[in-house]
Amino acid sequence: GGAALAISLAACSGEGAGGGADTGGDRAAELTIGVSMPTQTSERWIADGNSVKEKLEAKGYQVDLQYAGDDIPTQSQQVDQMITQGADVLIIAAIDGTALSGQLQAAADAKIPVIAYDRLIRDSPNVDFYVSFDNYKVGVAQANALLVGLGLLDRNGAKGTATGPFEVELFAGSLDDNNAHFFFRGATDTLKPFIDAGTLRVKSGQVKIEQVAILRWQQETAQKRMEDLLTSSYNDGSTVDGVLSPYDGLSRGIITALQNAGYGAAARKMPVVTGQDAEIASAKLINEGVQGSTIFKDTRLLAEQAVVAAEAFLKEKKPEANDTTTYDNGVKVVPSFLLPVQTVYKDDIKPVLIDSGYWTAEEVAAGQ
Ligand code: BGC
Repeated sequence: GGAALAISLAACSGEGAGGGADTGGDRAAELTIGVSMPTQTSERWIADGNSVKEKLEAKGYQVDLQYAGDDIPTQSQQVDQMITQGADVLIIAAIDGTALSGQLQAAADAKIPVIAYDRLIRDSPNVDFYVSFDNYKVGVAQANALLVGLGLLDRNGAKGTATGPFEVELFAGSLDDNNAHFFFRGATDTLKPFIDAGTLRVKSGQVKIEQVAILRWQQETAQKRMEDLLTSSYNDGSTVDGVLSPYDGLSRGIITALQNAGYGAAARKMPVVTGQDAEIASAKLINEGVQGSTIFKDTRLLAEQAVVAAEAFLKEKKPEANDTTTYDNGVKVVPSFLLPVQTVYKDDIKPVLIDSGYWTAEEVAAGQ
């Protein structure tokens, strides 16, 4: 089949199989790109997988798209299989950034270039390129959205009308995801002066990433942690004013815990809750004034960059990087292409999410 032919082509050229034309060209149909995605529980990864697949198929390539159900052995096995079946390039969004070294070594031995997709793969020399967003800036944007929501800053970054002090709690993503650390660092660097000045207080005292991280980014775990925080730190009549949340799924778990405790009704205002990914359920909550904000990362553009990088490798060229200093994976600095991010408050839903065709007005307005 195509895979076997691709291997023999690769063997002839001595490197990966090369093309020549601007599109995949005649050989495209003989080339397979393995695309390994972490999970289908978050819609962004489904959109990512679909976009990458569609864009590669439009150029005539074969695509082997797999989802690993957030299970590390499953992802390792799927990547192993892509390699043995003769993938010509791998595009991988890792569940655990350090768990794929063996697979990446096998890929390198078979001269298969590896592109880390959105999440950096760590502790391996065999990561050839990284496509992502500016993840530190995501964290900065989340912290700023919290400060804006509380009225401590205006949207231009100038001092706001509120003076505080405010009670806030912090959440981070999964510790095995390199991005979680970048998001948290960006956010806490931005919040630190306000915490130092006493304008923001973290009543639980939980401010270290190890204390606030949510394994595998799970909504239920975030809900549980928020419930525990409310019982342990806010059972004296005090209220939470804001929650730094790094991902919409966690934000919804946090909001559920808050609602169950009476927030968002009568005298208890819903705290300012941040987010990320512009998931439809959160876009609706922002539209309804329940969630404060999200960070929009256009996964269509990320998919496009992954395809550009994959094609460069297939043509035995180096993909063009726009950052060659930020992403040290523990073994080397991985050349990267980073895309910008956008904060979305209620007012931005139309210009940013609807006008760009990411969601329709009907989807955002539809009942839950
Ligand atoms: C991604 C985020 C996403 C999170 C949970 C991170 O690696 O960059 O966009 O919210 O994983 O899926």
